[in-house]
Amino acid sequence: MRQITEIFIHCSATQPKWMAANSCQQKVEEIRRWHTGKGWSDIGYHFVVDRQGEVCVGRPVERVGAHAKGHNKNSIGICLIGGFGSDANDKFDEHYTDLQRKALDNLLEDLTEKHKNAKIRGHNEVSNKACPAFQVEEYLNGQPKATEDTEEGSSSTTPTGPTLVGILMGLLRKLTGG
Ligand SMILES: [Zn+2]
Repeated sequence: MRQITEIFIHCSATQPKWMAANSCQQKVEEIRRWHTGKGWSDIGYHFVVDRQGEVCVGRPVERVGAHAKGHNKNSIGICLIGGFGSDANDKFDEHYTDLQRKALDNLLEDLTEKHKNAKIRGHNEVSNKACPAFQVEEYLNGQPKATEDTEEGSSSTTPTGPTLVGILMGLLRKLTGG
């Protein structure tokens, strides 16, 4: 069994409607066509998570993938369908669906259970790319924990007025004319 120390999250950089009527497996086949078209032996990713929350296997995990230059040997690559025209600092929800979030979380849970020491990272942490269109560390930190208790009767409303920072930024923009 290949030793896995990193799990990379990627995106297909496709528009939200890309192959929307097709199955996850058909999307895998299409990406496989792109990658074998470049002369690769197979699709570069090990898993594909589509916008309906379906997870499909790409390249078998036992085989080294082709998705994060210099990091392929001991990693698993997951591709989220979407992320077209993205920036590295966008938020997950700007590009992906709730079903995708659930599917990704389940997949990550499974994989980190199997590969205890694997660190979950984004492609943009190891290359100058927007992929996967958000900051993975921030995404993982923002995860509500399964054990979290919600106190009954406690309202967690946040003040909605302008914040001090917001006011200062506004002033700054006026001063600089930008
Ligand atoms: Zn990538």
